[in-house]
Amino acid sequence: MKTKHLLLLLTFFIVGANAQNIKKLPEYKLSKNEIEAHIRFIASDEMLGRRTGEITNNVAARYVAENFRLQGLKTPNGQKDYLQPVPFELVKPTKKGEVLVGTDSLKWTKDFIMLSGKATKLENVPVVFVGYGWVDEKQDDYKGIDVKGKIVIAQFGIPNSDDPNENLRGSSKKVDFAAKNGAAAFIQLYNLKYPWAAITNYMGGEKLNLAPANASNSDLIPHIWVSNVHIKKFAKETLSTLSLNVSEVSKKTVMSYNVLGVLEGSDPVLKNEYVVLTAHFDHVGTGKKGGRVTESDTIFNGARDNAFGTTAILSAVKAFTQKPTKRSILFIAYTGEEIGLLGSKYYAEHPLVPLKQCVYSLDCDGAGYNDTTKVTVIGLERTDAQSQIEAGAKAYGLTAISDPAPEQNLFDRSDNVNLAAKGIPSPDFAPGFTAFDAEINKFYHQVSDSPESVNYNYLLKFCQAYIYSARLIADRPTAPKWKAGDKYEKAFNELYGK
Ligand SMILES: [Zn+2]
Repeated sequence: MKTKHLLLLLTFFIVGANAQNIKKLPEYKLSKNEIEAHIRFIASDEMLGRRTGEITNNVAARYVAENFRLQGLKTPNGQKDYLQPVPFELVKPTKKGEVLVGTDSLKWTKDFIMLSGKATKLENVPVVFVGYGWVDEKQDDYKGIDVKGKIVIAQFGIPNSDDPNENLRGSSKKVDFAAKNGAAAFIQLYNLKYPWAAITNYMGGEKLNLAPANASNSDLIPHIWVSNVHIKKFAKETLSTLSLNVSEVSKKTVMSYNVLGVLEGSDPVLKNEYVVLTAHFDHVGTGKKGGRVTESDTIFNGARDNAFGTTAILSAVKAFTQKPTKRSILFIAYTGEEIGLLGSKYYAEHPLVPLKQCVYSLDCDGAGYNDTTKVTVIGLERTDAQSQIEAGAKAYGLTAISDPAPEQNLFDRSDNVNLAAKGIPSPDFAPGFTAFDAEINKFYHQVSDSPESVNYNYLLKFCQAYIYSARLIADRPTAPKWKAGDKYEKAFNELYGK
């Protein structure tokens, strides 16, 4: 009986003391008005959905950068500014012209798409077949074949692979080999299981890609994919010449920005290690480009996706500058998430703090919430920082749960994956959701995801839980690790030389 009393008393004392300490932390005093102000600016109608490549996306980056300045963050090593330029290439097909096979005239989109190339007119030019048109250490499909000035025809995909995505990616690379060998045009005969309409949608329209590091000749010659319906017309035995007359696929450089700020840690040794707090600030824009619009609303405000995460980062900046952690913190607001995780991809390839000094990353991004008693952490159980996240949530009355929809493979579908693939333990801290249900879909990538629809009492707790979790992790005596056997453990061992 006595022991039990003592234990109870001790527990009360420890928990009580802990609660007192939590109340002294700056995140405890975070104000609902302040987080609401961030959301109402970032997700305002005036920001027109912050689409990457559009000026309001740069305005959002500027807002984050100037908030970093206001709180006194430093720029990372040797940088003049908080903004890291991320060069994109806007690819725009003009979609005029035809490909003539015998007497058949193939039309742009319906029968073929052109992915790159200048306006070109070729009349009765000899064709040459090159198999896959693939070149690597093991094979060279151009060996002994003269393709100079000719139209090169290749079967779709790459040798020895039945993975359709690998074949798609490989096919996009092959035009280089044709151009290097002097081809006048490069045509591939599409034959994957994805319907032609899906391919023209995904590959055939206006597209924003990361700009390639070097300009290449492959941009000059037409790179054409012909629909599977027409493959028979391109038989090696019967086809000897082709004509085509096509307009250009224009390319223009467009600048977007990641935003980075650094806060030095308070511990003389641990400050050489960084915890990286990230969130994307871009969204999908306005009008049909963004998705389904309504008669009265065409702006995708992206309050949940991801003014929430951006606000969590800005709130973390404020809390940590008032009371720094032992480890240093690198704050990153990413652009380009909605067009393929491209801002974070660029950062992972062009880091401004050496990746091996970055011991952990907590991304803040999600699809929305349907349970305001929870936070959902994608990858919660995959690193040994699970207990800090659980404690961080609990301190603000929330329960941290792990991914409720593992079949969706969310971990690899958000920005955290790009640092994770480099080896850095990197879960994604998201608002509480227990399933992709009607409540989530009501707002996810909808024009209704606006500041008016947000539960700010919940958002305040969510931000506090995020910050306190990050604080507990940044103050840990030892750096976090992946759980044994995780798919990114090997990259972890390589990165940190374990
Ligand atoms: Zn999104």
